[in-house]
Amino acid sequence: MKLKSIFITATIIVITTIFTNAQPVKKHGPLSVKGIQLVNQKGDDVVLRGISYGWHNWWPRFYNTASVKWLADDWSCTVVRAAMGVGPRGSYIDKKEWSKEKIEAVIKGAIDNDIYVIIDWHSHEIHTEEAKIFFAEMAKKYGQYPNIIYEIFNEPVNDSWETVKKYSIEVIDVIREIDPDNIILVGSPHWDQDIHLVADNPITGYTNLMYTVHFYAGTHKKQLRDRTDYALSKGIPVFISECAGMEASGNGMIDYKSWNTWIDWMEKNKISWVCWSIADKNETCSMLYPTASDSGNWKTTDLKESGIKTREKLNSFKSK
Ligand code: MG
Repeated sequence: MKLKSIFITATIIVITTIFTNAQPVKKHGPLSVKGIQLVNQKGDDVVLRGISYGWHNWWPRFYNTASVKWLADDWSCTVVRAAMGVGPRGSYIDKKEWSKEKIEAVIKGAIDNDIYVIIDWHSHEIHTEEAKIFFAEMAKKYGQYPNIIYEIFNEPVNDSWETVKKYSIEVIDVIREIDPDNIILVGSPHWDQDIHLVADNPITGYTNLMYTVHFYAGTHKKQLRDRTDYALSKGIPVFISECAGMEASGNGMIDYKSWNTWIDWMEKNKISWVCWSIADKNETCSMLYPTASDSGNWKTTDLKESGIKTREKLNSFKSK
């Protein structure tokens, strides 16, 4: 009898563990920022790990609920990033309704599968009025879901931090009027490399803001980690919303030594990380071959080296 009850208790623990690992939003609830750390509804530290879709205007075929389910189940993603292209022809600026359909399919997939989702304004230049209208709409529609994270400027290129800061405050004000609490990610200048400039002049007066740093391990090494360490030491919360193992061009060999150093550093600092990207372009960083279906169920032969290795890395953190 005693043995039987021990067995039943152990079974319940195992099932609960599997259940909660597979359902991060159920487990963590609404996220917030405490000091420099992303925390869950109990105030415990959280590290999200996942995948970014490629630009929706070039890889729309992967923007569906089924591929999100596959990334949650088979790649252990606790977050996905919907990268809504803003700028190139055929992206949000001239195809607004179609673009929102694509992004919202991924949002719906994340809500249905109980993972977090980043709504990424994937732009390299400023479009203030369009961003304000878009994020107001997203906040109204999804601000009550704990799943949602807003990323309001993927990678500024030529704009100074002063300009990016001014833009960010305008967009944050619009979101906060509607949604008081979900996490907002703010870009840093020069492809999200100049986090030290943010550290010296951060946005103040708001809660649940984090700043993004992006790295490509073949190009970016200790210097970018040193800058980020400096920002952390100044109390700046950091989220790595885009990263990968090869050169910043998205091509070249994967630098495993550098990539592993970055992953160890992120884990040591409890920084969340999202890998680039779900696409089938002929380049190192696109994780899929054109044989990959639109909707997941990808075989090993559908995955390129970066896809195989990224999936392995994400699955190695499955229980964390
Ligand atoms: Mg909210």
